[in-house]
Amino acid sequence: MEIVKRTFLRACINHSCLDHDQINKILTPLCDQHQVTKPANQEALHEFAKSIENTIKDLNQSLTFMVHPVTGKEYLVFAITDATPDKQNHPGLTAEECFYFSILLEKLAQQEDCHIAWNEAYSDLDFKGSTKPPKKLRMQTLLQLWTEMGYFLESGDRLYLGPRSIVEFEFYLRSNFADTIKECALCKQLVLWDVKCSDCNTKIHRLCIRKYLRTRSNCPTCGNKWSTRLSQ
Ligand SMILES: [Zn+2]
Ligand SMILES: [Zn+2]
Repeated sequence: MEIVKRTFLRACINHSCLDHDQINKILTPLCDQHQVTKPANQEALHEFAKSIENTIKDLNQSLTFMVHPVTGKEYLVFAITDATPDKQNHPGLTAEECFYFSILLEKLAQQEDCHIAWNEAYSDLDFKGSTKPPKKLRMQTLLQLWTEMGYFLESGDRLYLGPRSIVEFEFYLRSNFADTIKECALCKQLVLWDVKCSDCNTKIHRLCIRKYLRTRSNCPTCGNKWSTRLSQ
């Protein structure tokens, strides 16, 4: 099993963010090749990932499953736990191209609902006097690459923070964008979209408030009767 774990970890590092289809495409032939039993269900797969994560924790790396609220899909995310966007490791990119990454991340994090229209990813960008901002075509290539890596996520005609940014930059986002980046009143994890109380505007995860309202009927923050619809 060890060789399977090591090879799977390498694939996770290369892809940086995998959905279940991608996980299956990698893990099924790998387990066949080494004649080991594939994790049989979601729970076993989570344990499998956890046991890999335990071997890389000391290197400030993590391998975690997260459900992205916008797509409702679960992803396995490889992340560097002490990363900040400016220290981002983008091998082969120019300083301006790395700067473009930080600008985009900041632009998204500053929005009340943490998303922008996709064309805003190419307009009104402040390169702070830099003489060589990347050309639009290059920006499109970079954005596509970062989207494949899970740093950003496109849905409809909007751009969102992707699974990897949410995991990797959690501390950075919490500490730098306290006005827009909130924690869920119930589980204390980051909440970027989901639902708001119509009275006090507190953001809460849809799943958390759904569970909470099974036994109660008031907002956990302001105490008024919860009236925001919860269906998607
Ligand atoms: Zn929550
Ligand atoms: Zn409220």
